[in-house]
Amino acid sequence: MTSVVNTSSLDFDQPGSPDRARFGNATALTCRECGARFELGGQHACTECFGPLEVSYHVPQVSRASIAAGPRNIWRYASMLPVPADIATRRTTEPGCTPLVLADNLARELGMRRLWVKDERANPTHSFKDRVVAVALAAAIELGYKVLACPSTGNLANAVAAAAARAGIEAVVLVPANLEPEKILASAAYGCKLIKVDGGYDEVNRLACELAEERDDWAFVNVNVRPYYAEGSKTIGFEIAEDLGWRLPRQIVVPVASGAQLVKIDKAFREVRKLGLVDVDVPEPVRVFGAQASGCAPVVAAYAAGQDVVQPVKPDTIAKSLAIGNPADGPFVLDVVRRTGGSVAAAPDDEIVDAIRLLAATEGIFGETAVGVTLAVLRRLLAAGELDPEAETVLINSGDGLKTLNAVSGAVVVPEPIKPSLREFAALYASSPDNR
Ligand SMILES: *Cc1c(COP(=O)(O)O)cnc(C)c1O
Ligand SMILES: [Zn+2]
Repeated sequence: MTSVVNTSSLDFDQPGSPDRARFGNATALTCRECGARFELGGQHACTECFGPLEVSYHVPQVSRASIAAGPRNIWRYASMLPVPADIATRRTTEPGCTPLVLADNLARELGMRRLWVKDERANPTHSFKDRVVAVALAAAIELGYKVLACPSTGNLANAVAAAAARAGIEAVVLVPANLEPEKILASAAYGCKLIKVDGGYDEVNRLACELAEERDDWAFVNVNVRPYYAEGSKTIGFEIAEDLGWRLPRQIVVPVASGAQLVKIDKAFREVRKLGLVDVDVPEPVRVFGAQASGCAPVVAAYAAGQDVVQPVKPDTIAKSLAIGNPADGPFVLDVVRRTGGSVAAAPDDEIVDAIRLLAATEGIFGETAVGVTLAVLRRLLAAGELDPEAETVLINSGDGLKTLNAVSGAVVVPEPIKPSLREFAALYASSPDNR
């Protein structure tokens, strides 16, 4: 496990000239531990210290107007991503521009003044993973890879299979055998090689890392092209800023599996400030809070113990999309929440189910188990006085409840059918619970 040297400096305006046709304004891969720089390529770890690599950029020529003139998807932010200049004209799945929903009913229920839900169900395969896969696919094609592959906790498999179908290339997805059937079947429907593995995600990931060594023309989106993949999550932060009228919220609560999403949303907030895209009315950073399930909370354990390293755990939770026991970006999550005045916390499975139903019943947003985790943790942070109920807050809904239906099956009442008669209707109507 690695500890953090420095993730807080933004890496614009470094030496090196961008290859605009292939990678936009990106100039290099830089080690997040020791700062060593490498050419843009299919490399994810530093050859000096084995630290993870991150994309560096030339300062982009970008303005609110140039973004507004772009397409209604993540490619409106192409100048801040490692993608070819003509990316918007290529065959991609076109994720992004998902709704930022003002959640007044939920806010009232929780005693908060102003709460927004960033609703990632609106992506092509119904989770935020379409964003990261679209960026990874663009890089994979530029780097000459022939197959798009991944180890997945479910949503990533859907996104990889769909994006590869659009681009007309082969997809191979590796998933834990005990995954939700909705996620497994949907991946197969997009037409991919589907490999179910006996074991949890961490075993699946280990196999994928071995395969990535062996198959040198396969792009494993979250392994060998991970530096590009991870940048895709910045677009969540860019959209939140743009949807708020180029302002930033004061607090955000984000689910944590590998931790990449949380780390990149923070990076996006810092980039839009540095590039002068947002009106900065307060000097403080956006407070970033991370959410894990109690049954898989290695980052929370490290945070509580005041440590910089994250000890792996064996996951046991209904939140399968977050069930990564050995999170690659765990140390960077710790860095972000400590630097911004946030924290990380966990909630148990029963509260996760309650929270899924609370969001659905107050706002009409049926999210998957991951949002159950995120909202349950938000409630705990409020109760603990860590989250300020008066401050403008964003909650990430990262995926769709229709993919994790079983999680709520024991918690709602579906009555037996009646005869089509007014009398039977009246009897059932009077006795049936309203499931609130
Ligand atoms: C993958 C996933 C996450 C976590 O993303 P990381 O970047 O790995 O932390 C959160 N929610 C859903 C629905 C996911 O599929
Ligand atoms: Zn290094």
